[in-house]
Amino acid sequence: MPGNPVAAMTIPLPIFCREEQQDTPADGPLRDTFGRVHTNLRISVTDRCNLRCRYCMPEDVTFLDRSEILSFDEIRRFTTVAATLGVTKVRLTGGEPLLRRGIDRLVAMLHDIPGLNEVALTTNGTTLSGMAGALWSAGLRRITVSLDTLDPETFRRVARRDALADVLAGIRAARELGFVVKLNAVILRGINDADIIPLAGFARETGCELRYIESMPIGADSWDRKSAVLAEELIETVAREFGPMDLVEGDPHAPAMTYCTNDGHRIGVIASVSRPFCSQCNRIRLTAEGMLRHCLFALFESDAKSVIRFGTDRELERLIRRVVWSKWEGHEINSAKFVKPTRTMHAIGG
Ligand code: SAM
Ligand code: SF4
Repeated sequence: MPGNPVAAMTIPLPIFCREEQQDTPADGPLRDTFGRVHTNLRISVTDRCNLRCRYCMPEDVTFLDRSEILSFDEIRRFTTVAATLGVTKVRLTGGEPLLRRGIDRLVAMLHDIPGLNEVALTTNGTTLSGMAGALWSAGLRRITVSLDTLDPETFRRVARRDALADVLAGIRAARELGFVVKLNAVILRGINDADIIPLAGFARETGCELRYIESMPIGADSWDRKSAVLAEELIETVAREFGPMDLVEGDPHAPAMTYCTNDGHRIGVIASVSRPFCSQCNRIRLTAEGMLRHCLFALFESDAKSVIRFGTDRELERLIRRVVWSKWEGHEINSAKFVKPTRTMHAIGG
């Protein structure tokens, strides 16, 4: 394509997958070399955050310049192309997505994309009470709120900021409007492990589904397995309080293993460390500045922003297919081969 900067551009791809790139499929579903079909897109709309959760990001951080991040029209363009390739679900995340001005407008724009049947959002909830109405009007129905503790002092220790009351107000406002609310809780040994049961009780009272998340080595703090409270211990602790729980069969691609108590309450565990679900992974990730990643832990990413800004839909489609085809088998957290990505979670999009 004469005059098109993308035509001459080399899109960075992992060296180990160059061989496979040659036979990247030109049509059909977004399949990788392990047969996994990708239908799920996580979009980070900002790397900024008003909290500093210790497992996610450092206290001092330089955020992207606003000119570097994708505009709403650019996000819509990317998502529209991804939807033609079989992506059906989108989750908006960050950083803190509700800090992106006009986020409700983006929700409405994504809802209009043919082929997408779900738009969801993950938030720290600090500004949710004031925004829940606009998000509802924009068509959003599913929100995940991160809530690691019900104790204000512990909240300050985990998030390095003081905002628990705002988060609880946000959860209440969302439930009152009718949102399906899930709660995400990362449990750290010796910090908020006393909250395992109170959080489950709070979720029951408010009609939310709680998911415990095993802490992963993707934050700024040093990480070791002992600091993470893992699935087995979480389930045993909850079962001691609420009685035996049955594993619920559900979407095989869902990251959470979902359990049900005798009285019908659902509790999930996202066990990325102790029971990695890489073999079922169907996700790709777009960072706030438009880098496309095949995995949260990917060590390479591809410059989708240049293609969005200067390329054709066909070129964008080829890039997405190549990134999926280059996907590795899994993150190897439990092996000596594991390499921690240089970006921390807030800069990728959780
Ligand atoms: N700011 C929003 C929030 O906190 O919900 C959205 C972005 S945050 C990165 C998305 C999710 O990633 C949160 O539920 C958070 O608890 C989780 N998360 C962040 N760092 C993590 C880590 N090292 N291990 C496990 N989960 C983590
Ligand atoms: Fe911010 Fe969410 Fe990371 Fe906490 S987990 S620092 S709220 S991006």
